[in-house]
Amino acid sequence: MARVFQVTIDKNRCKGCGLCPNACPKQVIAMSKEINDKGYFYAHVVDLPACIGCRFCAFMCPDVAISIAQEDAA
Ligand code: SF4
Ligand code: SF4
Repeated sequence: MARVFQVTIDKNRCKGCGLCPNACPKQVIAMSKEINDKGYFYAHVVDLPACIGCRFCAFMCPDVAISIAQEDAA
C-alpha cells in the first residue's frame, strides 16, 4: 500500500521566513508571489506528489503553520 502525504500550510500564520522551502529535500514547497493577510509572501505547496513525509518543513517552521498528514492509498 502506497503512502500519500497531505501537506497543509496555514498561509495566514506564515511570516514568509523562507525556512521551509530550504528545509524540504524534495522541493515540495516554494514561496508564493502573492501576499497573505499579514502582508508576507507566504509558503505554498507546489509539488505535493513529491512529498516523502519527512516533516522537516513542519519541524522547521517557527510559527507552526505546517501540518503533515499521512493517508494510505491503494
Ligand atoms: S514533509 Fe518533507 S518532503 Fe514533505 S513537504 Fe515537508 S520537508 Fe518536504
Ligand atoms: S517556515 Fe513557516 S513561517 Fe517560515 S515560510 Fe515556512 S510556513 Fe512560513
